[in-house]
Amino acid sequence: MNIEHLTQRVLQGGRITPEEALQLALSGDKAGLYEAAHRITVAMASDTFDMCSIINAKSGRCGEDCKWCAQSAHYRTDADTYGLVDADECLRHARHNERQGVSRFSIVTSGRKPARKELEKICQTAAHLRRHSSIRLCASLGLLDEQEMKALYQSGIVRYHCNLETGASYFPSLCSTHTQEEKLQTLQAARRVGMEICSGGIIGMGESMEQRIELAFTLRRLQVSSIPINLLSPIPGTPLEGQAPLSEEEVLTTIALFRFINPTAYLRFAGGRSRLGKECLKKALYVGINSAIVGDLLTTLGSKVEEDKRLVTECGYRLDDTLFDEEHLWHPYTSTTRPLPVYKVKRAQGATIELENGQVLVEGMSSWWCAVHGYNHPVLNRAAQEQLEKMSHVMFGGLTHEPAIELARLLLPLVPPSMQKIFYADSGSVAVEVALKMAVQYWQAQSMATGEERLARKQNFVTIHNGYHGDTWNAMSVCDPVTGMHTLFGSALPIRYFAPQPRSRFDGEWDEHDMDALRAIVEQHHGELAALILEPIVQGAGGMWFYHPRYLQEAARLCREYNILMIYDEIATGFGRTGKLFAWEHAGVEPDIMCIGKAMTGGYMTMSAVLASNRIADTISNNAPGVFMHGPTFMGNPLACAVSCASIRLLTSPEYDWQGKVRRIEQQLRAELAPARKLSQVADVRVLGAIGVVETKEPVDMARMQRRFVEEGIWIRPFGKLVYIMPPFIIDPGQLTKLTTGLLKVVSES
Ligand code: PMP
Repeated sequence: MNIEHLTQRVLQGGRITPEEALQLALSGDKAGLYEAAHRITVAMASDTFDMCSIINAKSGRCGEDCKWCAQSAHYRTDADTYGLVDADECLRHARHNERQGVSRFSIVTSGRKPARKELEKICQTAAHLRRHSSIRLCASLGLLDEQEMKALYQSGIVRYHCNLETGASYFPSLCSTHTQEEKLQTLQAARRVGMEICSGGIIGMGESMEQRIELAFTLRRLQVSSIPINLLSPIPGTPLEGQAPLSEEEVLTTIALFRFINPTAYLRFAGGRSRLGKECLKKALYVGINSAIVGDLLTTLGSKVEEDKRLVTECGYRLDDTLFDEEHLWHPYTSTTRPLPVYKVKRAQGATIELENGQVLVEGMSSWWCAVHGYNHPVLNRAAQEQLEKMSHVMFGGLTHEPAIELARLLLPLVPPSMQKIFYADSGSVAVEVALKMAVQYWQAQSMATGEERLARKQNFVTIHNGYHGDTWNAMSVCDPVTGMHTLFGSALPIRYFAPQPRSRFDGEWDEHDMDALRAIVEQHHGELAALILEPIVQGAGGMWFYHPRYLQEAARLCREYNILMIYDEIATGFGRTGKLFAWEHAGVEPDIMCIGKAMTGGYMTMSAVLASNRIADTISNNAPGVFMHGPTFMGNPLACAVSCASIRLLTSPEYDWQGKVRRIEQQLRAELAPARKLSQVADVRVLGAIGVVETKEPVDMARMQRRFVEEGIWIRPFGKLVYIMPPFIIDPGQLTKLTTGLLKVVSES
């Protein structure tokens, strides 16, 4: 038997057998065994120490005869005896632990299982805890069935604990009133209703090393991710009162074996660890313990949370506040009860993002299109600092300022020439709301101006499938009706008209039938249509699709013919991303209203703008009520305007050569993503400007893929069937190659 050989096997995702585990246990090279387990722990287990806490919510008078237990009514012990504690008492404990950064709180009761009334009360308590705290709730209530588990889960308990205690072959010698099989059924019932499971055992009850290995393998088969390891505290009065304590070597060897057998699990120190000296505790943490029950522990005394935290950090573990994040922060499109993992960023620089753990990722998303110059850019930093010294904000009602004026001066030469008026707004979605309101108000005004009442009925919108325009109410209504949120919000959303997505590819043949459906809708409904809204050339979050410029030209002709305004949403495409400064330039037809945002501030802060022609602005302004009815608090925010000015100056300066940068990215993306076409998982590959898209045949497992990308040192966030990159323009070729090779590698594994 060779420790190194087995270690390598585990590190490469392989397994060891029970016989090999026993040979490891018998090895004379203890130092070598501990070191090997440590390497597996570092490579495969979480380096974030997980602390949980418990309340002994009902104590003593247990009818079961477990030989180790102080609470068994079969033995005469000093254990406290009390009935179910009330909800407020539980809450007090839960909050106390939550404040100290403990991530879980478990309600533990003595007895085979709670009576029906007691279970109801526990559910009420859990709901009470859930109302007033966000600590994750666990329970350990004995042998429950699926119905009972469901009730617990619905009241907010997400993890169920039931120790298997020892190897199956030894269990009957320790307990005659229930079987280990009943415990297994309990755990399976918990898992079936959607709960995580936590299960481990007690060592030092007279079991053999083989029996400990037997337990570790049963836990592996169950894929238990949290394994409490208790060291027996012999309780006077119980049959095990005279049991000799385990030697330090036996404890550490057992932990090492559990680590070999369950390489990714949380091995959790539970009861009895206070009997170990500090040096031994440290060794246990080194070998494999990466979680613990902290605070007061059942009937024996555990150690205090602050002391534990100190010890744990001394041993190189992190105490992670992403747990607090999980408990309290709502991330985009994410569940709060089963959140997708988030990665904590320490800083970002150039085209890289540095995570809290020191890992550096190459940035492939430009933080959703906006960080075109990368992060921490000295020019943008200086602009923000200088503006900060003057004022970060003043209201835009009745006041104006240099950054707002300067930004408009910089924007006007870049946007379609007929765009003469600029309305500053807070975010992309708000810009879309503003644009839609502008269109409706325009037709109201036009109706007044001409006396043609029917024009006032032009209040609806037409758009194309697979669009994305934001998450606010009206923006949502013009997002794709299938992949967007239409089913969820149902009739609460205004009903819009949707033409199919143009199928003629940007660089392919123009198929004139692409216009048929839009023409049919416009011919039939123009009397009620205020505007056509679409993302020109590149559809972003709704499908990452690049369509033929001719579509815009034909659509513009149709809109003019039928008196419908054109709104371009250039929030994602603007500021060079598609190889033109704005995507409309690919087609050369101007809109009536245009939304820009995202990269305008270089991704430093939120700001958008709605641009309109004089025709739109004059008509609105020359008719009642004579003003455009919108005015957000942070309109024209000076800090955002100043950074936008710096970003636009930088982008358009000759030395920056944004076109050269985007062209180089485009060429490299074309060359390096092309091999993806040969992958069996891939349906399509497309590149335009600094955007590269790999469309897969099946939807991807986002959480898994995200993790794999991070492991590869790149930041790419896929969704649905789309794995795509749109890097900062300042990315260097080596970094871009890292992105494309990582992308191909991870997609090929899916
Ligand atoms: N329109 C488009 C085309 C977008 O890509 C986005 C954002 N992805 C929005 C609107 C909404 O912008 P925001 O998220 O800033 O509200």
